[in-house]
Amino acid sequence: MTTVAGSQAFIGIIYLIASALFILALKWMNAPPTARRGILSGEIGMVLAIGGTLLQLGMDGKLEHITIDYGWIFLALAIGTAIGVPLGLVQMTAVPQRTALSHAFGAFCVTLVGTSEFYLGTPSIPPFKMAVLCCEVILGGLTVTGSLMAAGKLQEVLPQRPITYKGQNFVNLLMFAVAIGIAVFLVHDPGATHLYPVMVGIALVFGVMLVIPIGGADMPTVISLLNSYAGLSAAAMGFVLNNKLLIIAGALDGSSGFILSVIMSKAMNRSFTNVLFGAFGQVAPAAAGAQEARPVKSASPEEAAGILAAASKVVVVPGYGMAVAQAQHKVRELYDALTKRGVDVRFAIHPVAGRMPGHMNVLLAEADVPYDRLMEMDDINGDFPQVDVSLIIGANDVTNPAAKTDKSSPIYGMPVLDVEKSHTVMVIKRSMNPGFAGIDNPLYYMDQTLMLFGDAKVFVSNIVKELAGHG
Ligand code: NAP
Repeated sequence: MTTVAGSQAFIGIIYLIASALFILALKWMNAPPTARRGILSGEIGMVLAIGGTLLQLGMDGKLEHITIDYGWIFLALAIGTAIGVPLGLVQMTAVPQRTALSHAFGAFCVTLVGTSEFYLGTPSIPPFKMAVLCCEVILGGLTVTGSLMAAGKLQEVLPQRPITYKGQNFVNLLMFAVAIGIAVFLVHDPGATHLYPVMVGIALVFGVMLVIPIGGADMPTVISLLNSYAGLSAAAMGFVLNNKLLIIAGALDGSSGFILSVIMSKAMNRSFTNVLFGAFGQVAPAAAGAQEARPVKSASPEEAAGILAAASKVVVVPGYGMAVAQAQHKVRELYDALTKRGVDVRFAIHPVAGRMPGHMNVLLAEADVPYDRLMEMDDINGDFPQVDVSLIIGANDVTNPAAKTDKSSPIYGMPVLDVEKSHTVMVIKRSMNPGFAGIDNPLYYMDQTLMLFGDAKVFVSNIVKELAGHG
């Protein structure tokens, strides 16, 4: 007895340490200098959580209803590892869809566990357990299909266009209400096994319906919301299995995903209610081709190098194109070359530049750009009138002044970087094509703007060569 109590206490301590590590992971991931430590702390926490759970199973010898066979558990671990390792090696630009797939796997697991608990426990499942079990499988089910849809849209294997029809929100809400109605019935009568698959089926279809009206490019916000749902379903599973660590980890996941969705919605100037009801992400009707060709001024790498070398304050504005071109290391070389010449170079980081939160920070950190040179939008916006050159590298929407002036613009109200206030603006991009929002950028036609047409990596590399040539 004493040994059992001692082992239980030991497992309790393992779970406590794992919980603390998860909390520290979130805290440390908040800032680039501590982010790697945060990841490590989360990984150690997860290893402890798995180890503690295996120990617990070893002590029990069997769960409530079934005998434990470690062979199956290790087979599952091997399969999970075989899937997880290649997933961890995807390109940085594919991280949003990779994350969506992870959520789908996690939620699938939660739904399966809930389903097995239901069939093992029915008809004598106590009301509280049945209520949280229903929450678990409804949230889990909709997260599985919602996340798969989101990943498919981002990977462009599914159409990116939002699919909408009249009364869509009503149909969605009705489906959700039916699922909740069945859940309430099951709480009263857990023996109604024929209703259970209907509830799970509705949740699975609901996940698809929730995501189809949203445009592919808005998927990162949806993914962080689905992250929140996956976390909440895991917390519900913690109640069902009476596992405190799952409750804590799920609650952390659920709340951090929710906070991130709110931050992203704010930075993109979308109301959170719109996100919840799936009524956003409509592709702007004004396609690029519909606009008249207007004259722009362009410059060569040699001219750009000359202007940069003569400047004393330069602000680099990175965006999605820098990520696509993988130009961050060349950007670092440019930073070194200019700093060596005594030019003050800083980086202006817009909260939604790129395609996922922290996208630019991660890339620039990978290239060892000093963190203290990275400025958040609110901290640098007031400085632009004193900036000699704003060098925009593959960014578009986050610099679009129409967000401040054009009430009819789809991005009107979105906070943007005030680059047009600097003396000279240089924009590296391959063409006049629009960015994520699908709209033209008046910045390109302004007097102080020079377009530097080309791939970001190639163009920056050519500027660096020119600077070296000038000694
Ligand atoms: P953006 O508006 O999408 O513009 C990126 C630009 O990069 C494009 O205009 C493209 O022009 C250029 N580009 C692409 N490949 C390039 C290459 N190889 N070399 C050089 N240029 C290249 O990007 P952004 O300014 O970073 O803005 C981000 C947008 O994504 C915002 O609208 C934001 O709301 C949205 N968003 C962000 C997040 C997030 O979490 N960060 C999530 C969801 C949505 P060319 O084709 O002419 O080269």
